[in-house]
Amino acid sequence: MALILVIEDEPDLVLGLRRNLEAEGFRVLHALDGAHGLELAIKETPDCVILDWMLPKLDGLEVCRRLRAAGRRVPVLMLTARGQEVVKVVGLEVGADDYVVKPFGVRELVARVKALLRRATGGVVRAEKLQVGAWEIDCARFEARRGAESRSLSRYEVELLALLARRPGEAVGRQEILNQVWGMDASPTDRTIDNYVVKLRRTLEEDPKRPRYLLTVHGIGYKLVP
Ligand code: CA
Repeated sequence: MALILVIEDEPDLVLGLRRNLEAEGFRVLHALDGAHGLELAIKETPDCVILDWMLPKLDGLEVCRRLRAAGRRVPVLMLTARGQEVVKVVGLEVGADDYVVKPFGVRELVARVKALLRRATGGVVRAEKLQVGAWEIDCARFEARRGAESRSLSRYEVELLALLARRPGEAVGRQEILNQVWGMDASPTDRTIDNYVVKLRRTLEEDPKRPRYLLTVHGIGYKLVP
């Protein structure tokens, strides 16, 4: 039975999450501040961490950063506040795997947790190596390398690239990307994909504003050009 660690300082939200996650058959641990959360995340080796951004003692970004610095690859789902577009990206930059914006539907959150767990236990990503321009993507290590330079990628970034790379030059629709990568029946207007594409372009493209490899196909989705 998967163990979920909830790090959140709003007791009502913790209660609601615990109830819903337990109803889905998960075991749930919780911490009400960042310092205790980090301690539990390292000591109890949960299968997934639900991590609020605004927390007493240590904020969620710092918890995530330290968790990654300690070499822990546990999937982290960040909870962010509405209107914090930059923060979403920052959350991903510190090594979180996904985020949901408050207020969120508990069913959506549970779906995201399940998708993260599916991926963590041998989902789509295999020991593949992809080439994007001068960058070599090591899917198993969540890393992009170019000569001596290396940049880390999140789980979803790697999965998105892997999906597009399987059909080079072909446009892949937004709904299919959401289904295949996020494992959910989300609305195709979901901004999630765009945020990940922006981040990937910043990592892999010489000029992120005029991408050469990761291209938008208007009205359809995205494609990866070899
Ligand atoms: Ca909070």
